[in-house]
Amino acid sequence: MTLDEIAVQVRTCTKCPLYKTRTNAVPGDGNPHAKIMFIGEAPGMNEDLQGKPFVGAAGKLLNTMLEKAGLERSEVYITNIVKCRPPENRDPLPDEKEACSPYLDAQIGQIQPHVIVCLGRHSAEYMFTKYGLEFPGITKARGQPYKVDSLFGHFILFPVYHPAATIYNQQLRPTLEHDFEVLRGLINNE
Ligand code: SF4
Repeated sequence: MTLDEIAVQVRTCTKCPLYKTRTNAVPGDGNPHAKIMFIGEAPGMNEDLQGKPFVGAAGKLLNTMLEKAGLERSEVYITNIVKCRPPENRDPLPDEKEACSPYLDAQIGQIQPHVIVCLGRHSAEYMFTKYGLEFPGITKARGQPYKVDSLFGHFILFPVYHPAATIYNQQLRPTLEHDFEVLRGLINNE
């Protein structure tokens, strides 16, 4: 299945109750041949309105962080664990993540990235669990590369704080900036 075919399925999906309250599903956006993939938690209000990931305040901050890592937004692929906005931006429920995760798995299989950056706890926990790694929590896991074996070969899992978390808690911002500097080094070695 191509990324476009996955996106068509996502936009018409009714596999979990989140389809009832969405304006637009948000399949993902970016370079289909990206070496670096970013996975967040779920769309927020602006993403729901525009049908694109990370276009609000957290997206603006992500763009700044991408610059720190020496990346253009057009060269990476960005998506979320859950493709429709949870009401009031609540955390996605386990059943919603389970229903939606086959789309993410298909996107990863199609892109076959060299590095997957997990934006926040939900994303990191899902990816660690899926690839058989014990998840120590985002505070301990962040900023470190984890080598993962997959059906398409090795890739690096790299968890960081969710940009939105560093908007609410400014004390986390230097850590996020540091981790994107580490990411820059990782990418240069890939
Ligand atoms: S969140 Fe995922 S599983 Fe639920 S309706 Fe949207 S696309 Fe389908």
